[in-house]
Amino acid sequence: MRLVLLGLPGAGKGTQGDLIAERYGIPHIASGSLIRDAVASGSELGRAIESYMRRGELVPDELTIDMVSERLSRDDCAQGWILDGFPRTVRQAIALDERLAQNNLDVQMALEIRIDPEEAIARIARRMMCSSCGAIYQFDGSGPQEETCSSCGGKLYRRVDDTEETARNRMLVYMRQTHPVVHYYSQGGRLYSIDGQRPIGEVFADVELYLRRLVNPRRVGEAR
Ligand code: AMP
Repeated sequence: MRLVLLGLPGAGKGTQGDLIAERYGIPHIASGSLIRDAVASGSELGRAIESYMRRGELVPDELTIDMVSERLSRDDCAQGWILDGFPRTVRQAIALDERLAQNNLDVQMALEIRIDPEEAIARIARRMMCSSCGAIYQFDGSGPQEETCSSCGGKLYRRVDDTEETARNRMLVYMRQTHPVVHYYSQGGRLYSIDGQRPIGEVFADVELYLRRLVNPRRVGEAR
């Protein structure tokens, strides 16, 4: 299964990506995590890309394409993968298709998780992440805020780019640079859209409905 997840920051790509990975036993590769790891390593590359991330701007295409391409070449990707946050530009989408075509492969499905931008900004403001396993939590401020991850015990933290100002910029960047990627996959007949403004389980039920078509090819082509 080779899948890309599209949608505004805060739409739930990370959460759904984790669920799909668990259900189908394939790696969930988030380009944002690759970028945060590079920044945290303090390498020359990390220092070069940190300012883009902090401002909510896209890291240059050449760098993200190389990072994701290297990740896809690892052994655990042989049976498939879920890409989350990549491609974010049409140039990245074309580069991905070209790279896969060299091995007679393709992106089988692009799942777009749709959500209202104001809801996305509100979710980002409430979001905490586990520094160890990357699990995502939402705290609405009404109850006590946990400090550790309930699944692995890691310390929870707030991403440096999860401020309201940066989140607003990330929405604009998505509309300008990433929304055309939705059309790119739509034209190729590979796009499936899901209403992300519902409980996690309901969104995942729709995700599974579409994914079953990949697992059972006779169902591909049925009405969307
Ligand atoms: P995310 O965790 O997906 O919200 O990504 C966090 C930040 O990493 C983004 O705001 C960008 O600065 C950078 N980033 C992640 N994926 C990409 C990508 N495919 N292309 C360019 N920049 C990216």
